[in-house]
Amino acid sequence: MNPVLSCVDVRKTFGANVVLDGLSLDVGEHEVVVLIGASGSGKSTLLRCVNLLEDIDDGAIRLDDEHITDPRVNPDKIRQKIGIVFQSFNLFPHMSVLDNITLAPVRVHGLSRRDAADKARELLARVGLADRAGEYPDRLSGGQQQRVAIVRALVNAPRLLLLDEVTSALDPELVGEVLSMVRDLKNDGMTMVIATHEMGFARQVADRVCFLHQGRVLESGPPAQVLGAPTEERTRQFVRRII
Ligand code: ADP
Ligand code: MG
Repeated sequence: MNPVLSCVDVRKTFGANVVLDGLSLDVGEHEVVVLIGASGSGKSTLLRCVNLLEDIDDGAIRLDDEHITDPRVNPDKIRQKIGIVFQSFNLFPHMSVLDNITLAPVRVHGLSRRDAADKARELLARVGLADRAGEYPDRLSGGQQQRVAIVRALVNAPRLLLLDEVTSALDPELVGEVLSMVRDLKNDGMTMVIATHEMGFARQVADRVCFLHQGRVLESGPPAQVLGAPTEERTRQFVRRII
């Protein structure tokens, strides 16, 4: 079966800083890949390149065999198929939960307001937030806001979901509800690439853990292997430090 996401020899530089240095990574359908690596190793940059928030300098990224980093591609069309959620929830403070979720599908992706709202309410209900649709974000806890941000990323029924440190800004007691939502998404078969510092979470949800170092995937394998018995000295040092 062809991968959902295929990154081939991706190179990304910021000035003299080579952040992705010929990075290759395939993600299969329903697969959950967790990216780990030191701060600055390029996890966020990779996710941003996949979502076309950054241009790559060389290589190619494919989504279901479509060459999405081809300059002729319309990024909005691709972003409709790839959800992304960041550490900071980035909800619009002056808009209700429902409007936050339906804004892009209606404005950018041409969904009718009614269809977008129906889909949003269905997803909110699934994560126990049905009664919050009319609230403003500042009336919600951080965990609730992040779950709304994830719902917003899901409303177009994306092929791929990218999660970038989605629990890092949360108080410890709120981390669990977000992780549990991600576990449910995995059980529903969502294909995901997740950057996280939570090694316990990586163990639970990852089908595969990839350790990024010097702009490439240095080591990749099942969580028990990469986190429990890494073969590369660099991975060993990282895992020893973080666990
Ligand atoms: P990680 O998410 O693994 O911590 P990042 O992808 O955020 O790593 O950062 C990788 C490197 O790219 C860092 O050296 C960072 O300073 C640099 N970088 C990221 N975004 C930008 C940008 N917009 N402009 C310049 N440098 C950037
Ligand atoms: Mg990051």
